[in-house]
Parts: sequence; C-alpha cells; structure tokens
Amino acid sequence: MRAIIVHGGAGKWLDEKIPDAVEVIKEAVVRGFEYLGRDPISACEESIKVLEDSPVFNAGRGSVLNEKGEIEMDASIMDGKSMNAGAVGSVKNVKNPISLARIVMEKTDHTLIVCEGAYRFAVENGLDIEEDLYTNERIKQWKRLKDEIGTVGAVVTDGSRIVAGTSTGGVSMKKDGRVGDSAIIGAGTYASEFSGVSATGDGDKIIRVSLSFFVNQLITAGVSPMDACRCGISLLWEKVKGKGGVIALNRKGEYGFSYNTARMPVGYMNSRSRHPKIFGV
Ligand code: ASP
Repeated sequence: MRAIIVHGGAGKWLDEKIPDAVEVIKEAVVRGFEYLGRDPISACEESIKVLEDSPVFNAGRGSVLNEKGEIEMDASIMDGKSMNAGAVGSVKNVKNPISLARIVMEKTDHTLIVCEGAYRFAVENGLDIEEDLYTNERIKQWKRLKDEIGTVGAVVTDGSRIVAGTSTGGVSMKKDGRVGDSAIIGAGTYASEFSGVSATGDGDKIIRVSLSFFVNQLITAGVSPMDACRCGISLLWEKVKGKGGVIALNRKGEYGFSYNTARMPVGYMNSRSRHPKIFGV
C-alpha cells in the first residue's frame, strides 16, 4: 500500500497558527502522494519542500534565528532500500535544504556536508538561493513566539521502498555552527527496508538516544509503528528528559506517531483513504 505521513514539528503551537499549519500539512501530504507512484525519494522531497516554503514552520522560509540573528538550517534524507543517505548542517540561504540533502545523497560519497561547503555545493548544483529567508516582520514575530518550534518531516512508502526526511531551522538562539538531530542520520531521520522515521523536538537530546534508529529497530523487531513511536518518546524522556515527537511508517503503510509536547501537527494518507487525516492538533 502507498502511504505518506508528515509532521510539522513538536512544540507549543499557539491556537492561531493551527489552521494555517493544517492547511499546509494537507497540501504537503497530497503533493508527496502525487509523486509516490513515480519515485518515493521525490515524494519525500516534494512534500518537505511544501513545508519549507511555508512561513508557518521552522524550516526553509520560516526558520528561527540563531543567537546572531542568522538562519542556519539542517536537513537529511534517507532511502531505506539502498541505505543511502544525505544531510546538510548549518547551511545558509538555501531555499530548500531537503533538496540539497538529496543531492549529497545522490551525487557524493559523503553523508553530511556543513556550513560554507554546503552552501557552495548548493550553488554549484544550481539550487535556488534566497538572500533573505526572513523579513523584519518575521524577526518581530520570532521574538514574540520564540518558544515555538516546528521542524518538518515526511516518511513515504510505495509498498516496497521507504524514504524518510527531515528539515529544520534548529532551535532559536542556538550558537552559530550548532548542528541538531535533523542533520544526523539515526537521530532525526532513519530509513531501512522495514521502516522510516522522522523526529522533532529537543535535538541535542534526540541525538543522545539515537531516536530514529531506536524506533526503526523496534519496528524491525515486529513492534507496531504506533507502539514503537510511544516507546521512543518514553526513552527520550526517561533517559535524557527530552521533549519532542516522532513519526514512523512500516512497509505495509501502517503509521505511528507520538509526542510529549502540547502539539505536533501530523498528516497521513494512504492509497485506501485518499484523503489526508490530521492528528496532533
Ligand atoms: N529538532 C530540531 C533541532 O533540535 C528542532 C525541532 O524539532 O523543533 O534542531
């Protein structure tokens, strides 16, 4: 069965932002699903691009600012069939970091490229560069809402192959050069032949429990995606007092999600329902 699950980040999520978040998540689910028949990697990338292009989420255009008032973004993608993966960390001015992560996966022998090197690699590959990913209005809004977080992620399957991806602006007021879980394969993103996982939340803690790899291992051992996600979030809290969320899909297109924050907008659709279902709001 073809299926897609998308998240818009675990966090506080003020009431007034929810209607826009839900609309964009539905759009991302539908866009990704359109690509699923052709190519699951494009399905994952395209659905995350919809979320990166929206100012509602902390990724791409809506990214939070670091302590210097700059945007530095992380993203990663993994193909569970080939076990290939690509990631970028602390990259500036790239409109769609998820596309850059895909190029790292497909065109290099590396897994993670960061900072200036990642930016130059984006330019060399003709990706869209945005000198100004934020506006003055956005900065004011960020100051008001700085405890809000909203990383994005997607996991897709066409019934045989699973692809997972994650993209973020990180955490607000982070040190410049800080790289979080969203750029780390096994922490923010993981995929295998059995499952795909994308995480969100306190990335410095998610890294310490290899959250996405842990959830993937449980699903591989036969645990349902829903129970595996719940165990993952329990582990995150019990071991390192981490707050966050995680989504997962198995090869049958069965989904799971869990979070220990106030909200985590999630959208899911499969070839039977053909209609995005929304959870976590
Ligand atoms: N996990 C992201 C990070 O720590 C932030 C988030 O999910 O909101 O960079």
